[in-house]
Amino acid sequence: MFDYIIVGSGFVGSIIAERIASHLHKKVLIIEKRNHIGGNAYDFYNEEGILVHKYGPHVFHTRSKEVWEYLSHFTDWNIYQHETLGFIDGRFVPIPFNIHSLHQLFPQFLALRLEEKLIDQFGYNNKVPILKLKEIEDEDLQYLANYIYEKVFLNYTIKQWGVKPEELDPTVTGRVPVFVSKDNRYFQDPYQGTPKYGYTKMFENMLDHENIKLLLNTDYKDIVSVNHGNGEMKVFNQSFNGKVIYTGPIDYFFDYKHGKLPYRSLQFIFETHPMEKFQNTGQVNYPNDYEFTRITEFKHLTGQKHSKTTIAKEISLNYDAAKNEPYYPVKNNETQEQLKLYKKEAEKLHHIIFAGRLAEYQYYNMDAVVARALKVFNEKILK
Ligand code: FAD
Ligand code: UDP
Repeated sequence: MFDYIIVGSGFVGSIIAERIASHLHKKVLIIEKRNHIGGNAYDFYNEEGILVHKYGPHVFHTRSKEVWEYLSHFTDWNIYQHETLGFIDGRFVPIPFNIHSLHQLFPQFLALRLEEKLIDQFGYNNKVPILKLKEIEDEDLQYLANYIYEKVFLNYTIKQWGVKPEELDPTVTGRVPVFVSKDNRYFQDPYQGTPKYGYTKMFENMLDHENIKLLLNTDYKDIVSVNHGNGEMKVFNQSFNGKVIYTGPIDYFFDYKHGKLPYRSLQFIFETHPMEKFQNTGQVNYPNDYEFTRITEFKHLTGQKHSKTTIAKEISLNYDAAKNEPYYPVKNNETQEQLKLYKKEAEKLHHIIFAGRLAEYQYYNMDAVVARALKVFNEKILK
Protein backbone atom coordinates (compact mmCIF):
# COMPACT_ATOMS: atom_id res chain seq x y z
CA MET A 1 0.00 0.00 0.00
CA PHE A 2 0.96 3.67 -0.20
CA ASP A 3 1.58 6.27 2.50
CA TYR A 4 0.31 9.16 0.39
CA ILE A 5 -1.98 9.57 -2.58
CA ILE A 6 -1.63 12.49 -4.92
CA VAL A 7 -4.25 13.46 -7.47
CA GLY A 8 -2.68 15.19 -10.47
CA SER A 9 0.88 15.23 -11.84
CA GLY A 10 1.29 18.95 -12.58
CA PHE A 11 3.78 21.11 -10.70
CA VAL A 12 2.09 20.74 -7.31
CA GLY A 13 1.49 16.99 -7.52
CA SER A 14 4.94 16.19 -8.92
CA ILE A 15 6.86 18.37 -6.47
CA ILE A 16 5.06 17.05 -3.42
CA ALA A 17 5.56 13.48 -4.69
CA GLU A 18 9.27 14.11 -5.20
CA ARG A 19 9.64 15.58 -1.69
CA ILE A 20 7.74 12.72 -0.02
CA ALA A 21 9.69 10.07 -1.94
CA SER A 22 13.21 11.44 -1.62
CA HIS A 23 13.05 13.45 1.61
CA LEU A 24 10.56 11.47 3.72
CA HIS A 25 11.39 8.12 2.09
CA LYS A 26 7.69 7.25 1.97
CA LYS A 27 5.65 5.65 -0.80
CA VAL A 28 3.39 7.72 -3.06
CA LEU A 29 0.78 6.89 -5.64
CA ILE A 30 0.05 9.61 -8.20
CA ILE A 31 -3.26 9.33 -10.02
CA GLU A 32 -3.42 11.34 -13.24
CA LYS A 33 -6.44 11.63 -15.49
CA ARG A 34 -4.52 12.56 -18.63
CA ASN A 35 -2.20 10.28 -20.59
CA HIS A 36 0.88 12.26 -19.57
CA ILE A 37 2.58 14.01 -16.64
CA GLY A 38 3.29 17.74 -16.23
CA GLY A 39 -0.23 19.18 -16.06
CA ASN A 40 -0.65 22.28 -18.17
CA ALA A 41 3.10 22.73 -18.50
CA TYR A 42 3.38 19.52 -20.58
CA ASP A 43 5.42 19.87 -23.79
CA PHE A 44 6.32 17.45 -26.58
CA TYR A 45 8.07 17.25 -29.96
CA ASN A 46 5.49 17.49 -32.75
CA GLU A 47 5.56 15.54 -36.02
CA GLU A 48 8.14 18.01 -37.45
CA GLY A 49 10.40 17.58 -34.40
CA ILE A 50 9.62 21.01 -32.96
CA LEU A 51 9.17 21.31 -29.18
CA VAL A 52 5.70 22.76 -28.48
CA HIS A 53 3.62 23.42 -25.37
CA LYS A 54 0.38 21.48 -25.63
CA TYR A 55 -1.63 23.71 -23.29
CA GLY A 56 -0.33 27.14 -24.31
CA PRO A 57 2.93 29.07 -24.02
CA HIS A 58 4.79 28.57 -20.73
CA VAL A 59 7.65 30.87 -19.76
CA PHE A 60 9.08 30.29 -16.33
CA HIS A 61 9.86 33.43 -14.35
CA THR A 62 10.36 34.10 -10.67
CA ARG A 63 11.84 36.40 -8.10
CA SER A 64 12.39 33.51 -5.73
CA LYS A 65 15.91 32.11 -5.55
CA GLU A 66 14.54 29.15 -3.55
CA VAL A 67 12.03 28.23 -6.27
CA TRP A 68 14.61 28.58 -9.05
CA GLU A 69 17.20 26.53 -7.18
CA TYR A 70 14.71 23.80 -6.33
CA LEU A 71 13.74 23.29 -10.01
CA SER A 72 17.39 23.52 -11.04
CA HIS A 73 17.94 20.13 -9.36
CA PHE A 74 15.86 18.63 -12.18
CA THR A 75 16.76 20.74 -15.19
CA ASP A 76 19.28 23.06 -16.79
CA TRP A 77 17.83 26.20 -18.28
CA ASN A 78 17.54 27.89 -21.60
CA ILE A 79 17.87 31.48 -20.38
CA TYR A 80 15.21 33.47 -22.22
CA GLN A 81 13.70 36.92 -21.61
CA HIS A 82 10.13 36.95 -22.86
CA GLU A 83 9.06 39.86 -25.08
CA THR A 84 5.64 40.54 -26.52
CA LEU A 85 4.42 42.88 -29.23
CA GLY A 86 0.84 44.07 -29.60
CA PHE A 87 -0.67 44.92 -32.99
CA ILE A 88 -2.12 48.39 -32.29
CA ASP A 89 -3.26 50.88 -34.93
CA GLY A 90 -1.30 49.06 -37.65
CA ARG A 91 1.97 48.92 -35.66
CA PHE A 92 3.66 46.25 -33.58
CA VAL A 93 4.47 47.90 -30.24
CA PRO A 94 5.86 46.54 -26.94
CA ILE A 95 3.38 45.03 -24.48
CA PRO A 96 3.22 45.79 -21.55
CA PHE A 97 2.63 49.26 -22.93
CA ASN A 98 5.78 51.28 -22.15
CA ILE A 99 7.64 54.43 -23.16
CA HIS A 100 8.74 52.84 -26.45
CA SER A 101 5.10 51.99 -27.25
CA LEU A 102 4.18 55.60 -26.55
CA HIS A 103 6.78 56.93 -29.00
CA GLN A 104 5.79 54.42 -31.69
CA LEU A 105 2.13 55.42 -31.57
CA PHE A 106 2.07 59.18 -30.93
CA PRO A 107 3.66 62.20 -32.67
CA GLN A 108 6.94 63.15 -30.99
CA PHE A 109 5.75 66.35 -29.25
CA LEU A 110 2.84 64.52 -27.66
CA ALA A 111 4.81 61.39 -26.77
CA LEU A 112 7.44 63.53 -25.00
CA ARG A 113 4.78 65.40 -23.01
CA LEU A 114 3.05 62.16 -21.99
CA GLU A 115 6.36 60.53 -21.10
CA GLU A 116 7.29 63.46 -18.85
CA LYS A 117 3.90 63.41 -17.15
CA LEU A 118 4.03 59.64 -16.59
CA ILE A 119 7.48 59.90 -15.01
CA ASP A 120 6.42 62.88 -12.84
CA GLN A 121 3.32 61.08 -11.66
CA PHE A 122 4.64 57.55 -11.10
CA GLY A 123 8.43 57.65 -11.28
CA TYR A 124 10.65 55.88 -13.82
CA ASN A 125 10.61 52.06 -13.86
CA ASN A 126 7.30 51.83 -12.04
CA LYS A 127 4.25 49.83 -13.08
CA VAL A 128 0.68 51.14 -13.14
CA PRO A 129 -2.37 48.91 -13.63
CA ILE A 130 -4.56 50.32 -16.39
CA LEU A 131 -7.58 50.65 -14.09
CA LYS A 132 -5.45 52.81 -11.75
CA LEU A 133 -4.15 54.96 -14.61
CA LYS A 134 -7.76 55.63 -15.62
CA GLU A 135 -8.37 57.25 -12.21
CA ILE A 136 -5.72 59.97 -12.69
CA GLU A 137 -7.29 63.40 -13.17
CA ASP A 138 -4.67 65.08 -15.37
CA GLU A 139 -6.25 65.65 -18.80
CA ASP A 140 -3.32 64.34 -20.85
CA LEU A 141 -2.93 61.22 -18.72
CA GLN A 142 -6.70 60.68 -18.92
CA TYR A 143 -6.41 60.75 -22.69
CA LEU A 144 -3.51 58.29 -22.62
CA ALA A 145 -5.28 55.98 -20.16
CA ASN A 146 -8.41 55.88 -22.32
CA TYR A 147 -6.31 55.20 -25.42
CA ILE A 148 -4.46 52.28 -23.81
CA TYR A 149 -7.65 50.96 -22.26
CA GLU A 150 -9.47 51.00 -25.61
CA LYS A 151 -6.63 49.76 -27.81
CA VAL A 152 -4.84 47.26 -25.58
CA PHE A 153 -7.21 46.02 -22.87
CA LEU A 154 -10.87 46.35 -23.77
CA ASN A 155 -11.20 44.07 -26.78
CA TYR A 156 -8.52 41.61 -25.68
CA THR A 157 -10.29 41.17 -22.34
CA ILE A 158 -13.68 40.78 -24.00
CA LYS A 159 -12.21 38.10 -26.28
CA GLN A 160 -10.38 36.35 -23.42
CA TRP A 161 -12.98 36.55 -20.67
CA GLY A 162 -16.26 37.52 -22.37
CA VAL A 163 -16.50 40.61 -20.11
CA LYS A 164 -14.95 44.08 -19.77
CA PRO A 165 -11.84 44.69 -17.60
CA GLU A 166 -13.87 46.33 -14.79
CA GLU A 167 -16.06 43.23 -14.43
CA LEU A 168 -13.05 41.15 -13.36
CA ASP A 169 -10.93 41.34 -10.26
CA PRO A 170 -8.43 44.21 -10.92
CA THR A 171 -5.51 41.81 -10.40
CA VAL A 172 -6.34 40.18 -13.77
CA THR A 173 -5.52 43.17 -16.00
CA GLY A 174 -3.05 44.25 -13.30
CA ARG A 175 -0.87 41.33 -14.46
CA VAL A 176 0.11 43.40 -17.51
CA PRO A 177 0.46 46.96 -16.12
CA VAL A 178 1.52 50.04 -18.07
CA PHE A 179 5.29 50.19 -17.51
CA VAL A 180 6.89 53.63 -17.13
CA SER A 181 10.13 52.33 -18.56
CA LYS A 182 12.05 51.53 -21.74
CA ASP A 183 12.41 47.90 -20.69
CA ASN A 184 10.58 45.84 -23.35
CA ARG A 185 10.49 42.59 -21.39
CA TYR A 186 7.12 41.07 -20.42
CA PHE A 187 8.47 40.10 -16.98
CA GLN A 188 11.17 41.74 -14.87
CA ASP A 189 11.83 38.76 -12.61
CA PRO A 190 15.55 38.05 -12.17
CA TYR A 191 15.17 34.33 -12.94
CA GLN A 192 13.60 33.60 -16.33
CA GLY A 193 13.72 30.86 -18.91
CA THR A 194 12.44 27.52 -20.11
CA PRO A 195 13.76 24.09 -19.08
CA LYS A 196 16.61 23.26 -21.45
CA TYR A 197 15.23 19.87 -22.49
CA GLY A 198 11.57 20.79 -21.99
CA TYR A 199 9.13 20.81 -19.09
CA THR A 200 8.17 17.16 -19.55
CA LYS A 201 11.79 16.04 -19.21
CA MET A 202 12.06 18.09 -16.01
CA PHE A 203 8.95 16.36 -14.62
CA GLU A 204 10.32 12.94 -15.64
CA ASN A 205 13.49 13.68 -13.65
CA MET A 206 11.41 14.72 -10.64
CA LEU A 207 9.28 11.58 -10.67
CA ASP A 208 12.11 9.14 -11.38
CA HIS A 209 12.12 7.51 -7.92
CA GLU A 210 11.38 3.99 -6.72
CA ASN A 211 8.97 5.32 -4.06
CA ILE A 212 6.74 6.95 -6.69
CA LYS A 213 4.13 4.99 -8.64
CA LEU A 214 2.19 6.71 -11.38
CA LEU A 215 -1.21 5.75 -12.70
CA LEU A 216 -2.07 7.61 -15.92
CA ASN A 217 -5.42 7.75 -17.77
CA THR A 218 -7.28 7.43 -14.47
CA ASP A 219 -9.79 9.76 -12.88
CA TYR A 220 -9.15 9.48 -9.14
CA LYS A 221 -12.86 8.87 -8.53
CA ASP A 222 -12.48 5.52 -10.30
CA ILE A 223 -10.32 4.19 -7.45
CA VAL A 224 -10.66 6.56 -4.50
CA SER A 225 -13.88 7.23 -2.63
CA VAL A 226 -14.20 9.89 0.06
CA ASN A 227 -17.07 10.28 2.49
CA HIS A 228 -17.45 14.09 2.55
CA GLY A 229 -19.19 13.95 5.94
CA ASN A 230 -16.72 12.01 8.10
CA GLY A 231 -13.73 12.03 5.72
CA GLU A 232 -13.42 8.23 5.52
CA MET A 233 -11.53 7.09 2.45
CA LYS A 234 -11.30 3.92 0.44
CA VAL A 235 -8.68 3.18 -2.17
CA PHE A 236 -9.21 0.16 -4.41
CA ASN A 237 -12.09 -0.64 -2.01
CA GLN A 238 -9.79 -0.84 1.01
CA SER A 239 -9.78 1.70 3.77
CA PHE A 240 -6.98 4.27 3.51
CA ASN A 241 -5.67 6.25 6.49
CA GLY A 242 -2.86 8.18 4.82
CA LYS A 243 -2.94 11.72 3.48
CA VAL A 244 -4.25 12.77 0.09
CA ILE A 245 -2.94 15.76 -1.84
CA TYR A 246 -5.60 16.87 -4.27
CA THR A 247 -4.69 19.17 -7.20
CA GLY A 248 -7.82 18.77 -9.38
CA PRO A 249 -10.80 21.16 -9.47
CA ILE A 250 -12.27 21.74 -6.01
CA ASP A 251 -15.90 21.84 -7.21
CA TYR A 252 -15.51 18.44 -8.91
CA PHE A 253 -14.13 16.95 -5.68
CA PHE A 254 -17.34 17.95 -3.85
CA ASP A 255 -19.58 16.78 -6.73
CA TYR A 256 -20.47 20.42 -7.54
CA LYS A 257 -22.62 20.64 -4.39
CA HIS A 258 -22.28 24.46 -4.34
CA GLY A 259 -22.59 24.79 -8.10
CA LYS A 260 -19.96 24.74 -10.83
CA LEU A 261 -17.12 27.24 -10.55
CA PRO A 262 -16.77 28.90 -13.96
CA TYR A 263 -13.56 28.66 -15.98
CA ARG A 264 -12.40 30.06 -19.28
CA SER A 265 -10.99 27.56 -21.70
CA LEU A 266 -8.91 27.88 -24.86
CA GLN A 267 -8.72 26.33 -28.28
CA PHE A 268 -5.17 26.15 -29.66
CA ILE A 269 -4.64 26.25 -33.40
CA PHE A 270 -1.16 24.90 -34.14
CA GLU A 271 0.41 25.69 -37.51
CA THR A 272 3.84 24.71 -38.83
CA HIS A 273 5.36 27.02 -41.43
CA PRO A 274 8.26 26.31 -43.80
CA MET A 275 10.39 29.21 -42.54
CA GLU A 276 12.89 29.71 -39.71
CA LYS A 277 11.04 32.56 -38.01
CA PHE A 278 7.36 33.52 -38.27
CA GLN A 279 7.37 36.64 -36.07
CA ASN A 280 9.88 38.90 -34.32
CA THR A 281 9.04 37.97 -30.73
CA GLY A 282 7.84 34.85 -28.91
CA GLN A 283 4.39 36.31 -28.46
CA VAL A 284 2.32 38.77 -30.50
CA ASN A 285 -1.01 39.98 -29.10
CA TYR A 286 -3.92 40.99 -31.32
CA PRO A 287 -6.32 42.90 -29.06
CA ASN A 288 -8.45 44.36 -31.85
CA ASP A 289 -8.05 42.12 -34.88
CA TYR A 290 -8.98 38.49 -35.56
CA GLU A 291 -10.84 36.01 -33.39
CA PHE A 292 -7.70 34.83 -31.59
CA THR A 293 -6.00 36.81 -28.80
CA ARG A 294 -2.36 35.98 -29.44
CA ILE A 295 0.16 34.01 -31.46
CA THR A 296 3.07 32.23 -29.80
CA GLU A 297 6.09 31.01 -31.73
CA PHE A 298 7.66 28.27 -29.63
CA LYS A 299 11.20 28.40 -31.01
CA HIS A 300 11.70 31.83 -29.43
CA LEU A 301 10.79 30.38 -26.03
CA THR A 302 12.73 27.15 -26.30
CA GLY A 303 15.80 28.36 -28.21
CA GLN A 304 15.46 25.40 -30.59
CA LYS A 305 17.13 25.62 -34.02
CA HIS A 306 15.05 24.17 -36.86
CA SER A 307 14.40 25.02 -40.51
CA LYS A 308 10.63 25.12 -39.87
CA THR A 309 8.65 26.78 -37.12
CA THR A 310 5.44 26.04 -35.20
CA ILE A 311 3.07 28.70 -33.91
CA ALA A 312 -0.12 28.50 -31.82
CA LYS A 313 -3.09 30.84 -32.07
CA GLU A 314 -5.33 30.98 -28.99
CA ILE A 315 -9.09 31.33 -29.16
CA SER A 316 -10.82 31.76 -25.84
CA LEU A 317 -14.12 30.05 -24.99
CA ASN A 318 -16.34 29.01 -22.11
CA TYR A 319 -15.32 25.89 -20.24
CA ASP A 320 -17.38 22.77 -20.80
CA ALA A 321 -16.09 19.63 -19.02
CA ALA A 322 -17.23 17.40 -21.90
CA LYS A 323 -15.40 19.39 -24.57
CA ASN A 324 -12.37 21.27 -23.28
CA GLU A 325 -10.04 22.01 -20.33
CA PRO A 326 -10.45 24.33 -17.32
CA TYR A 327 -7.61 26.82 -17.87
CA TYR A 328 -8.46 30.09 -16.17
CA PRO A 329 -10.42 30.53 -12.90
CA VAL A 330 -12.75 33.52 -13.30
CA LYS A 331 -12.01 35.82 -10.39
CA ASN A 332 -14.92 38.13 -9.46
CA ASN A 333 -17.05 38.82 -6.36
CA GLU A 334 -19.56 36.10 -7.14
CA THR A 335 -17.02 33.31 -7.68
CA GLN A 336 -15.11 34.33 -4.54
CA GLU A 337 -18.29 33.79 -2.49
CA GLN A 338 -18.87 30.40 -4.10
CA LEU A 339 -15.24 29.47 -3.48
CA LYS A 340 -15.62 30.26 0.23
CA LEU A 341 -18.33 27.58 0.49
CA TYR A 342 -16.03 24.98 -1.04
CA LYS A 343 -13.11 26.06 1.14
CA LYS A 344 -15.25 25.56 4.25
CA GLU A 345 -15.99 21.98 3.16
CA ALA A 346 -12.29 21.39 2.44
CA GLU A 347 -11.23 22.64 5.88
CA LYS A 348 -13.28 19.87 7.51
CA LEU A 349 -11.22 17.17 5.79
CA HIS A 350 -7.95 17.34 7.73
CA HIS A 351 -6.18 14.53 5.92
CA ILE A 352 -6.85 15.95 2.46
CA ILE A 353 -4.71 18.85 1.27
CA PHE A 354 -6.10 21.01 -1.53
CA ALA A 355 -3.33 22.78 -3.44
CA GLY A 356 -2.75 24.26 -6.90
CA ARG A 357 -4.45 26.34 -9.56
CA LEU A 358 -7.56 24.14 -9.81
CA ALA A 359 -7.85 22.98 -6.20
CA GLU A 360 -7.55 26.52 -4.84
CA TYR A 361 -9.22 28.18 -7.85
CA GLN A 362 -6.41 30.74 -8.06
CA TYR A 363 -4.84 32.36 -11.13
CA TYR A 364 -1.39 31.09 -10.09
CA ASN A 365 1.75 31.30 -12.23
CA MET A 366 4.16 28.37 -12.22
CA ASP A 367 6.54 29.90 -9.71
CA ALA A 368 3.65 30.50 -7.31
CA VAL A 369 2.58 26.86 -7.46
CA VAL A 370 6.16 25.67 -6.96
CA ALA A 371 6.40 27.89 -3.85
CA ARG A 372 2.99 26.65 -2.72
CA ALA A 373 3.97 22.97 -3.13
CA LEU A 374 7.19 23.44 -1.16
CA LYS A 375 5.29 25.28 1.60
CA VAL A 376 2.61 22.59 1.77
CA PHE A 377 5.27 19.93 2.06
CA ASN A 378 7.22 21.77 4.77
CA GLU A 379 4.23 22.87 6.82
CA LYS A 380 1.61 20.17 6.37
CA ILE A 381 3.49 17.00 5.53
CA LEU A 382 6.96 17.24 7.06
CA LYS A 383 5.73 18.52 10.44
P1 FAD B 1 -2.16 21.63 -13.31
O1 FAD B 1 -0.96 21.86 -14.15
O2 FAD B 1 -3.49 22.01 -13.87
O3 FAD B 1 -2.18 20.10 -12.88
C1 FAD B 1 -3.31 19.47 -12.35
C2 FAD B 1 -3.31 18.03 -12.81
O4 FAD B 1 -4.39 17.33 -12.17
C3 FAD B 1 -3.53 17.89 -14.31
O5 FAD B 1 -2.52 17.10 -14.88
C4 FAD B 1 -4.90 17.24 -14.41
O6 FAD B 1 -5.03 16.37 -15.54
C5 FAD B 1 -4.98 16.46 -13.11
N1 FAD B 1 -6.35 16.16 -12.70
C6 FAD B 1 -7.40 17.02 -12.66
N2 FAD B 1 -8.52 16.39 -12.27
C7 FAD B 1 -8.17 15.09 -12.05
C8 FAD B 1 -8.90 13.94 -11.65
N3 FAD B 1 -10.22 14.00 -11.42
N4 FAD B 1 -8.23 12.77 -11.50
C9 FAD B 1 -6.90 12.68 -11.76
N5 FAD B 1 -6.17 13.75 -12.17
C10 FAD B 1 -6.80 14.95 -12.31
N6 FAD B 1 2.49 30.13 -15.69
C11 FAD B 1 3.69 30.77 -15.77
O7 FAD B 1 4.37 30.94 -14.75
N7 FAD B 1 4.17 31.23 -16.97
C12 FAD B 1 3.47 31.08 -18.13
O8 FAD B 1 3.94 31.50 -19.19
C13 FAD B 1 2.21 30.43 -18.08
N8 FAD B 1 1.48 30.29 -19.19
C14 FAD B 1 0.25 29.70 -19.12
C15 FAD B 1 -0.51 29.61 -20.29
C16 FAD B 1 -1.75 29.03 -20.26
C17 FAD B 1 -2.58 28.96 -21.52
C18 FAD B 1 -2.26 28.49 -19.03
C19 FAD B 1 -3.61 27.85 -18.99
C20 FAD B 1 -1.52 28.58 -17.87
C21 FAD B 1 -0.25 29.19 -17.90
N9 FAD B 1 0.53 29.28 -16.76
C22 FAD B 1 1.74 29.95 -16.82
C23 FAD B 1 0.07 28.74 -15.46
C24 FAD B 1 0.56 27.30 -15.20
O9 FAD B 1 0.03 26.45 -16.21
C25 FAD B 1 0.04 26.85 -13.83
O10 FAD B 1 0.48 27.73 -12.82
C26 FAD B 1 0.51 25.44 -13.44
O11 FAD B 1 0.48 24.53 -14.50
C27 FAD B 1 -0.39 24.95 -12.31
O12 FAD B 1 0.08 23.73 -11.80
P2 FAD B 1 -0.89 22.81 -10.93
O13 FAD B 1 -0.09 21.66 -10.48
O14 FAD B 1 -1.57 23.64 -9.91
O15 FAD B 1 -2.07 22.38 -11.91
N1 UDP C 1 -4.47 41.82 -21.32
C1 UDP C 1 -5.02 42.62 -22.30
N2 UDP C 1 -4.27 42.91 -23.42
C2 UDP C 1 -3.03 42.42 -23.60
C3 UDP C 1 -2.48 41.59 -22.60
C4 UDP C 1 -3.23 41.29 -21.48
O1 UDP C 1 -6.15 43.07 -22.18
O2 UDP C 1 -2.39 42.71 -24.64
C5 UDP C 1 -5.30 41.52 -20.12
C6 UDP C 1 -6.31 40.39 -20.42
O3 UDP C 1 -7.45 40.61 -19.63
C7 UDP C 1 -5.53 39.18 -19.96
C8 UDP C 1 -4.86 39.72 -18.69
O4 UDP C 1 -4.50 41.07 -19.05
O5 UDP C 1 -6.37 38.08 -19.69
C9 UDP C 1 -3.66 38.96 -18.22
O6 UDP C 1 -2.74 38.82 -19.28
P1 UDP C 1 -1.58 37.71 -19.26
O7 UDP C 1 -0.72 37.94 -20.44
O8 UDP C 1 -0.97 37.68 -17.93
O9 UDP C 1 -2.46 36.38 -19.47
P2 UDP C 1 -2.07 34.83 -19.50
O10 UDP C 1 -0.68 34.73 -20.05
O11 UDP C 1 -2.21 34.34 -18.10
O12 UDP C 1 -3.11 34.26 -20.43
